[in-house]
Amino acid sequence: EAESGWTWDKAVCRFCGTGCGIMIATKDDKILAVKGDPLAPVNRGLNCIKGYFNAKIMYGADRLKKPLLRVDENGNFSKQGKFKAVSWQRAFDEMEKHMKSAMKELGPTGIGIFSSGQYTIMEGYAASKLMKAGFRSHNIDPNARHCMASAVVAFIQAFGIDEPAGNYDDMEITDTVVTWGANMAEMHPILWSRITENKLSHPDRTKVVNLSTYTNRTSDLADIEIIFKPNTDLAIWNYIAHEIVYNKPEAIDWDFVKKYTVFATGFVDIGYGMRTPDHPKFTDKEKETVKHEVAKKLTADEGKTLAYLGYKEGDVMEMKHRNKAVNHWIIQYEEFKKALKPYDLDTVANIAKGDPEESIEDFKKKLKALADLYIEKGRKVCSYWTMGFNQHTRGSWVNEQAYMVHLLLGKQSKPGDGAFSLTGQPSACGTAREVGTFAHRLPADMVVANAKHREISEKLWKVPAGTINPKVGSHLMKIHRDIEDGKIKFAWINVCNPYQNTANANHWIKAARQMDNFIVCSDGYPGISAKVSDLILPSAMIYEKWGAYGNAERRTQHWKQQVTPVGDAMPDVWQFVELAKRFKLKEVWGAQKVPGLKDGLPDVLEGAKEMGYSPEDTLYDVLFANEDAKKYAWPDPIGEGKINTESGGDKRKVLGSDGKPFEGYGFFMHKYIWEEYRKFGIGNGHDLADFDTYHKCRGLKWPVVDGKETLWRFNSEYDVYAKKADVGPFAFYGKALKKMPQGSISKPDMSKPKVNLANKAKIFFRPYMEAPEVPDKEYPYWMCTGRVLEHWHSGTMTMRVPELYRAVPEALCYIHPKDAADQGLTEGDLVWVESRRGRIKAHIETRGRNRVPRGLIYIPWFDEKVFVNKLCLDATCPMSKETDFKKCAVKISKA
Ligand code: SF4
Repeated sequence: EAESGWTWDKAVCRFCGTGCGIMIATKDDKILAVKGDPLAPVNRGLNCIKGYFNAKIMYGADRLKKPLLRVDENGNFSKQGKFKAVSWQRAFDEMEKHMKSAMKELGPTGIGIFSSGQYTIMEGYAASKLMKAGFRSHNIDPNARHCMASAVVAFIQAFGIDEPAGNYDDMEITDTVVTWGANMAEMHPILWSRITENKLSHPDRTKVVNLSTYTNRTSDLADIEIIFKPNTDLAIWNYIAHEIVYNKPEAIDWDFVKKYTVFATGFVDIGYGMRTPDHPKFTDKEKETVKHEVAKKLTADEGKTLAYLGYKEGDVMEMKHRNKAVNHWIIQYEEFKKALKPYDLDTVANIAKGDPEESIEDFKKKLKALADLYIEKGRKVCSYWTMGFNQHTRGSWVNEQAYMVHLLLGKQSKPGDGAFSLTGQPSACGTAREVGTFAHRLPADMVVANAKHREISEKLWKVPAGTINPKVGSHLMKIHRDIEDGKIKFAWINVCNPYQNTANANHWIKAARQMDNFIVCSDGYPGISAKVSDLILPSAMIYEKWGAYGNAERRTQHWKQQVTPVGDAMPDVWQFVELAKRFKLKEVWGAQKVPGLKDGLPDVLEGAKEMGYSPEDTLYDVLFANEDAKKYAWPDPIGEGKINTESGGDKRKVLGSDGKPFEGYGFFMHKYIWEEYRKFGIGNGHDLADFDTYHKCRGLKWPVVDGKETLWRFNSEYDVYAKKADVGPFAFYGKALKKMPQGSISKPDMSKPKVNLANKAKIFFRPYMEAPEVPDKEYPYWMCTGRVLEHWHSGTMTMRVPELYRAVPEALCYIHPKDAADQGLTEGDLVWVESRRGRIKAHIETRGRNRVPRGLIYIPWFDEKVFVNKLCLDATCPMSKETDFKKCAVKISKA
């Protein structure tokens, strides 16, 4: 009776990459309740504490309901002005004006978008298409660059195709769970409940090992806890490989290794110089070590990644080294073995031991026990990791080293066996990676630097040949630098909070506010990024729009719009589409100058005419209008600053030509976008099902071929592509697939590329290298950052849910009790925490859920009051450009 009049429908959780299904109850156009979806295969009716508050995140008291523009006392835009509510019309007028001015002065690269792994798939696709095919700029890069880019590099390097081979079922099948820099108990709690069930059901068989820089809740279930020094996980992987090749060579699955893998290495002469000992390809100069002290000083002063080279600012150098960064070459097993020689137990234990109070003998015993679990014949092993791996200057390498061990042992792509990169955000996979909302990517693993890939994309996007810019755009950190350097003068923030989420945050906030630019932020709440911006657009939140997410196990899940957006808030897709109406083809598709591109971009207006477009047509006409979308587009909120109420005040009930209401406004646009998008993946290993299928099921794991999802990729028993490769039980077909014709898998062309790598994975050797910044006399503590169970990312949503706020109202500084005592501090004291980049205040905690070793502190980053990213180091992995959030050097004093 209490539920009288409620309508329940399936949806997807807004938060983490687990991708739990939820049920949502609506009544009178409001979401009233949320419960776990018993039919959802990921979570089977359970949610974590955040999941149960999916409704309340939408109804915070300060939800943004109208566009807000900074204006002076006369109502004119002013960078120093105060925010005032304006109509959507005025908001788009200002956006159009500032975008056109930036593009006139700087060309298409004068604009940029901070995009997101929390975009719905349709939002990511629409934004990417508008930027890449419309404005001809690749300056669009997601916050996923901060979280998953290193994992992507390793997937592409090792397998030639992105995303994990296995799936969540492995968590129940496996005999061994090893977590590396992944506090799954708090960050992926529902997956952890599946692992817990496995462990408690098979306490003797199933072993759990937690490798971390501090003790956390994941350790509670662990048989072995290994506390290692920040950044030394790569050395531990090399020790395991050393143990295999020197002490237990019989454990190598030679049949698997010979048939399906090759050995490889490479170098990046960036950072501290590069070393692959004795390799003839290295000149003396390449072996040189760049002075650590110089790097630290430049980084602190300038906030430039290039500083690690000891170079001053200069993109030419960066390009040169970026190209080198992805170089690698094939080596023989003997070379691989020789490279591993230094990584014996004694050496690695001395490098990696993270708890000064633990004896070296005890630590060695644990490392040996860990290696033995991997090596044990017949024992199934799954390795899981998240940001603890990825957010390092050697993040790409450590990802590769996980595959190294699993491939050597033949424990990969099999049920219960495999290395699995977990994602942080709900659609880091589905949107950021699969859609390709990165500066260098196009949908379905294609890249902008590849002429064939551009041609395929231009055809699918129905834009003239030559429209897509061949020059890779600015990655996320470089967008910040471009704003600072005046190279980007219009930036749009979508579904993310870059001014709270970027390392060395104060530096970038200053750049945004002090330079001549126009920054727009579309958001649900006024977070730090909104406050840094010049125009704030109120965005519809998750269940106020149609959408789809792709989770960490390649599962794509759709949901329907459930309620009308609050106030004048509108979906991000609508915002992209409306903006597209403001740009005529003649304004964007003429010849364009582009820095670093000698001949610039060609005039494609003739080509457009041949395709039936007029130069007077708008980008909307070309990119988004189809018959259905035109006929049933959203009601127009522009006009007198109010939402149009022609459809009876209920925007969801747009009437069709037959006079009947449709299920939701924007439905056709989303369906149209989905059906166009999925054409990119068909026949090349990224097959997705059609829109209607997803609305009838609880998601499917791609590739979906003939309506069937794929459980374990590269395994012929489960994966139709591996079977078709016809090279045995396994085929790591990523490289070979790139040669396959689009649109068909019936006759795959598995012809051999120049080097015989078709259907083979690469086993990399990568050397351990010291962290870019380490504690010293002046800054004696390591500082690590991360998340807490109760809050999502920068806290803009969850800090507005009273129950979650009360549970964890502020970010604490976890410190060892003896370190606190040494400083004269007691529980709860307020301290200054200071790095070379800034300082913050936080209360200390010496007990509780996180217990840190001596010499290390841990502060989560959800709390804008305890603005920890002010302190973090903005160095990036030279291959992935992912930021090294995970550790830096700090000092502490009583506040
Ligand atoms: Fe599931 Fe993650 Fe949502 Fe929790 S936050 S319910 S684990 S998807």
